[in-house]
Amino acid sequence: MTNLSLEHIAATARSGQALSDAQIRALVSLDPERLPQLLAHAHAIRTVRFGNRISLCAIVNAQSGRCSEDCSFCAQSAHHGGTESPEYPLLSPQEIGGAARTAKEHGAHRFGIVASGKFVGSDLLKGFAAAVRAVAAQGLVPDLSPGILEPEQFRVLKTAGLKGYHHNLETSASHFPKVCTTHAYDEDVRAVRAAMDAGLHVCCGGIFGIGESWEDRVELALLLRSMGVRSVPMNFLTPIPGTPLAHREPLSPEEALHIVALYRFLLPESALRICGGRQTVFGSGRKKELLVSGASGLMVGDYLTTTGAGIASDHEEISRAGLSVNPTAV
Ligand code: SF4
Repeated sequence: MTNLSLEHIAATARSGQALSDAQIRALVSLDPERLPQLLAHAHAIRTVRFGNRISLCAIVNAQSGRCSEDCSFCAQSAHHGGTESPEYPLLSPQEIGGAARTAKEHGAHRFGIVASGKFVGSDLLKGFAAAVRAVAAQGLVPDLSPGILEPEQFRVLKTAGLKGYHHNLETSASHFPKVCTTHAYDEDVRAVRAAMDAGLHVCCGGIFGIGESWEDRVELALLLRSMGVRSVPMNFLTPIPGTPLAHREPLSPEEALHIVALYRFLLPESALRICGGRQTVFGSGRKKELLVSGASGLMVGDYLTTTGAGIASDHEEISRAGLSVNPTAV
């Protein structure tokens, strides 16, 4: 067994040690015929930390559209005319609490309140605090994706009962300027660090299939590892008419599975949650493989501007893969 054999690299990852550059290159350039072995090792690594449990989470699109930012993949940007994304201000606490109740009935433990936009004024901050209380009242762990917040705003929301801050870095620092020109990558990184400093659980990942290279994928994973991010949402592009990426081909299921497995090797201690784009890339035919590829969580229900997989069929596939739903909110 050489240093660069899949078995040796998997043993290194299982022990929690960082992989060498050569080991990472070996994983990235793996012969596609060896994908089943890669997935099997990734699944074994995830089993060390997460057993045979899979976590489910859900979100509500609590405030949609008219976003000041120009993220090239996103239907909610005000810069992309012609998308059919709905536009509405923050839903009432009653509406958000009702969506949380439905998610709980479907087995979710964490519930994300997701709002478009970057800056949060004082009225919106009060609205978020009320939404957080409405989710907590349903017995779910409230998470919030509000854009970029200041340290003091994190403290206000934590007092209201907020447990988790969700903010994706989307891609590597190197690729980000090709994805978004209206704010700097550092602003996102600073907000994530401020949430950590406030003692919040942080969910921070990215979107794949937006023109990034394998080097970009590795760069993002290593940054998340160095920041100590323990929950990483993985999204895959669904090309949306009206956005600059409308005509980009979605990733193949094989490439997407390769990315999930790579992230499991690079982030052995972190929850990897498969979120948007799951239906587009994996459909229903590759669900079982996805569940044993190193992922440890799924977003269930509908995503922000695209429709999710059927919840009943998710539960069936979870049992068929020999997994069970994590009864806690990890
Ligand atoms: S990804 Fe977020 S910040 Fe970027 S355009 Fe969409 S809603 Fe706005």
